Amino acid sequence: MGQAKSRGSRDDRVAQATRLGASARPPVIRCNACRAELPDVEAIDTRGLKGIELAFRAHCAPCDQDTWAVRGEAAAVRAFYDALEKSVGQKVRMGTTRPQLDD
Ligand SMILES: [Zn+2]
Repeated sequence: MGQAKSRGSRDDRVAQATRLGASARPPVIRCNACRAELPDVEAIDTRGLKGIELAFRAHCAPCDQDTWAVRGEAAAVRAFYDALEKSVGQKVRMGTTRPQLDD
């Protein structure tokens, strides 16, 4: 208590960053096809992807389909999906990461 604040601030900041990183959990992703909540959400490394903040993928075994959730600049997200579609060879639909609005 009341000890040299400035001395500990660096460690505090690291600790806080670590805590923030740990709390940045993947969003809940629902399968695009069956709407089931997918438990295994894989975080994609987006550090090399300009304009993309976060990208997650979840696989639905019953549907044998991947659902993606990507966050970032609109143009970058679009480019990301375009690249996905090319690599997958079929249409890739945006994942749902928030409650559905009225149908
Ligand atoms: Zn499904």
